[in-house]
Amino acid sequence: MSTAAVPRRTAIVTVDDDPGVSRAVARDLRRRYGEQHRIVRAESGAAALEALTQMKLRGEQVAVILADYRMPEMNGIELLERAMDIYPAARRALLTAYADTGAAIDAINVVDLDYYLLKPWDPPEEKLYPVVDALLDAWDSSDHKPVPELKVVGHRWSARSSAVREFLARNQVPYRWYAADEPEGRRLLDAAQADDLTLPVVITADGDVLVEPSETDLAGRVGLTTTPSTDFYDLVVVGGGPAGLGSAVYGASEGLRTLMVERIATGGQAGQSSRIENYLGFPDGVSGAQLTDRARRQAAKFGAEILMTREVTGLEANGPARTVRFSDGGAVTAHTVILATGVSYRQLTAPGLPELTGAGVFYGSALTEAVGCKDHDVYIVGGANSAGQAAVYLARTARSVTLLVRGPSLRKSMSYYLIQQVEAMPNINVRVCTEISEAHGNGRLEGLTLRDANNGRTDTVEAHWLFVFIGAAPLTDWLGDAVARDSRGFILTGPDLVAHHLEGWPLERPPYHLETSVPGVFVAGDVRSESAKRVASAVGEGAMAVMLVHRYLEGL
Ligand SMILES: Cc1cc2nc3c(=O)[nH]c(=O)nc-3n(C[C@H](O)[C@H](O)[C@H](O)COP(=O)(O)OP(=O)(O)OC[C@H]3O[C@@H](n4cnc5c(N)ncnc54)[C@H](O)[C@@H]3O)c2cc1C
Repeated sequence: MSTAAVPRRTAIVTVDDDPGVSRAVARDLRRRYGEQHRIVRAESGAAALEALTQMKLRGEQVAVILADYRMPEMNGIELLERAMDIYPAARRALLTAYADTGAAIDAINVVDLDYYLLKPWDPPEEKLYPVVDALLDAWDSSDHKPVPELKVVGHRWSARSSAVREFLARNQVPYRWYAADEPEGRRLLDAAQADDLTLPVVITADGDVLVEPSETDLAGRVGLTTTPSTDFYDLVVVGGGPAGLGSAVYGASEGLRTLMVERIATGGQAGQSSRIENYLGFPDGVSGAQLTDRARRQAAKFGAEILMTREVTGLEANGPARTVRFSDGGAVTAHTVILATGVSYRQLTAPGLPELTGAGVFYGSALTEAVGCKDHDVYIVGGANSAGQAAVYLARTARSVTLLVRGPSLRKSMSYYLIQQVEAMPNINVRVCTEISEAHGNGRLEGLTLRDANNGRTDTVEAHWLFVFIGAAPLTDWLGDAVARDSRGFILTGPDLVAHHLEGWPLERPPYHLETSVPGVFVAGDVRSESAKRVASAVGEGAMAVMLVHRYLEGL
């Protein structure tokens, strides 16, 4: 193993067991990045881990790890997985031969791989440098600077503790979790002079103690923006899912002063997906977290402002101004608004379930909770793609996954490719025509009574983990009569508006395609009546809505 002598520069680590290849990669990297970065070369996974550990102890930063896939003893994926424990923020790429592409694709999920590169990488200007540039950009713009870790101390089965962890995870904020009833958790509570009656307690890297913090308190502490920089914008986008992010990227890149407001975490539903396989340009799939991270950075790069933990609860039109009001009383005004508030999971109402939400019963938070269900039996309710993805994801580590499906088969509700994946996993069982009639548990989920819809028979099973994916509803009641909605609350636009609710439309021209009953207020994504409920269409509508915003502004 050889290392350059200049300390403290951010490192790029490359690992290949073939000394010739190893030297060649390091040489190409040094040629382009040698001035700015320290290039560290290792010839085995073990040597790389040793180097990473030493660098960690010396307080050095690692921006990129580039590992060969085929190495004896420890392959590239195993190495990257172990490297994540040491440098979780480092960007990861796998170097593979064409024949190993399948392994690289699997690695996208296992180690949240950023890229895989096919050998040979000649000419590096075309094949290697663009990838490493993108990895360095990603590292540069993420909040990796010694993000001293937050510590969260809470009860394993408390809804509030679960919500705090999910908030941090979905916003990609590193934290370490301690159960309040374990020795280290107790030690931390003692040190923080906190008791275990009001949990969770969050301890910041500076040692500040936050008792049962709100999302806004946390957001402020972890560097998320919570207040707008001005009170007037060209465009305010409400919602930070794929449609909102699409609108923010196109709005800001086309010169509009753009503010995007998100109440929980960017990425919306897509951010909770373990693997999106049908989004154009990602033939090997992409995790929702990765897609969100890239989209958010792209929006920020173009200058869009992203406001977090602010919920929009009012919309008003005053002449040409459109005012968006927040739940805490604040407001911003803009020429135009794009509503991209998507949909939220519907909740199950069977006796016992509402009280156990967050205490074994989870809505859409399969990714955050996955670690806890390792080697356990897991139940999932739902027959659509989101349930299928969660089943496949959790089945990798859970002892068993039982999919509870109300209908007689998965065929009508789940994509064919996912049904095949579900069927191929021996530890996934599918129970069709089955509903939950009751949940049991004292403070945490302990059992479920399941009812067979064919014969009405019930049986009670021991269960500690239940994930629910049963379709969704738009949360648009806050809009009241501000814009016209259909009978299920989805927002009507363009041609649908013309067909149903055009009375009161103030202009001579008809509404544009994605325009609501209020001129200058547009809709994109799942919240639109008759929308496609797909990531690609949400992003596409975000872009299209911005094009219509321009058309509207030209007519002002
Ligand atoms: C687990 C899962 C897996 C999926 N997998 C796929 C897939 O593989 N392929 C595919 O094409 N589609 C998939 N989908 C569907 C896809 O994610 C959605 O169609 C897409 O996310 C819709 O984007 P959107 O921006 O319209 O809405 P959403 O993603 O719902 O985002 C809306 C955002 O608005 C925010 N918001 C809501 N109200 C307010 C308010 N009042 N103030 C501020 N913010 C607000 C929400 O917090 C949310 O972040 C999946 C969905 C789920 C749940």
